[in-house]
Amino acid sequence: MTDVFADLVGQDEAVATLRRAAASAAALLRAAAPVAAGRAGPTGGDDDLDALAEEFDESGPGPEVEPGAGMTHAWIFTGPPGSGRSVAARAFAAALQCVHGTGCGHCPGCHTTLGGTHADVRLVVPEGLSIGVNEMRALVLRAASTPSGGRWQVVIIEDADRLTEAAGNALLKAVEEPPPRTVFLLCAPSTHPDDISVTIRSRCRVVPLRQPPAGAVAEVLVRRDGIAPDVAEWAAAAAQGHVGRARRLASDPEARQRRDAVLAVPRRLTGVGAAFDAASALIEAAEAEAAASVAEIDEAERAALQTALGAGGTGRGAAGAMRGAAGQLKDLERRQKSRATRAQRDALDRALVDLAGFYRDALTMALRAPVAPVHTDTAALAGAGAQKWDADGALRRLEAVLECRAAIEANVKPRIAVEAMMLALWKG
Ligand SMILES: [Zn+2]
Repeated sequence: MTDVFADLVGQDEAVATLRRAAASAAALLRAAAPVAAGRAGPTGGDDDLDALAEEFDESGPGPEVEPGAGMTHAWIFTGPPGSGRSVAARAFAAALQCVHGTGCGHCPGCHTTLGGTHADVRLVVPEGLSIGVNEMRALVLRAASTPSGGRWQVVIIEDADRLTEAAGNALLKAVEEPPPRTVFLLCAPSTHPDDISVTIRSRCRVVPLRQPPAGAVAEVLVRRDGIAPDVAEWAAAAAQGHVGRARRLASDPEARQRRDAVLAVPRRLTGVGAAFDAASALIEAAEAEAAASVAEIDEAERAALQTALGAGGTGRGAAGAMRGAAGQLKDLERRQKSRATRAQRDALDRALVDLAGFYRDALTMALRAPVAPVHTDTAALAGAGAQKWDADGALRRLEAVLECRAAIEANVKPRIAVEAMMLALWKG
């Protein structure tokens, strides 16, 4: 039988750290249990809570294996996209809520946490380009309450690199003076100051995740998702260690078609006009993919808001409601636009990662490096490129793709960045 850490592929070191922490967190709860059960302890309840808080403080390790040793109240999971940052955070949250304290995967604590319904686990998934201060304040407030399940209040913040400065400050206050039973789990690409503020970083323990090897990704696709081994192997290699992307490529024909279209770009670049056409096609494909991905939820949100505001109502409150409605509708539209922009950038970035893989294949072939190609299905084409361009030309093209990604991340208008890239790919 598998426990909550089973899907964290190729991350043995991180899993060992988290298991240790979960065990010591469980020991902390057991140490505080006489008070929770109402039995007379050596000290009063408040004192015990203080003691519990002190045990979080790593500065004073006791002589015996004390309960707080492997545990702390704030964690950052770092690693490249798809390496499993949020999977790790959720698994750890489940282990903290597990009635056995291990993350057994079967008890109600594990089940409800992984299913997203545990009352003491809050998950923040930013939909737009940033996480705002109001959202963060509300979250910090609720996180300070006593856990209803008697274990921990856990707050998971996905993409903590998208915190606004004000939101980061609100979070920092909570992390600096944590309530004794509250645990913050942040996910970010790295601990670079661009991703996470130095002050927050200094209060957290870091769990670095690495890009899982293709073999480990393929194994989980076969075991968990029932995908045929040969398809799983191809998808794991093509997704370059991104577990979620690998699963989508293996199971979604549309995702495969979009990838095919991206990988057809190199052979279509026959002149300036073709380069501009390819840029337009790539941008429009990303826009279409993003629009499709958000359309359903946008519509559902609009309908829900209109129902809540009583649109079309004729009662006495209707006129007043409509006055406030305009503002709320505007607010919703703003959030939806931000989410759509994010979805477009994510779709475009996926395409650029695929394209970079193609030029990386050409480069390794030109260098005769003994590594397996990323895209086995375009390996012949990459080989032809390697002969034509040589290693220098392949490297220049790979760099053009990586520069395009960096430019878009730095807020250059995507169309401009992609056009510049396509021209560079054509000229070499
Ligand atoms: Zn459990």
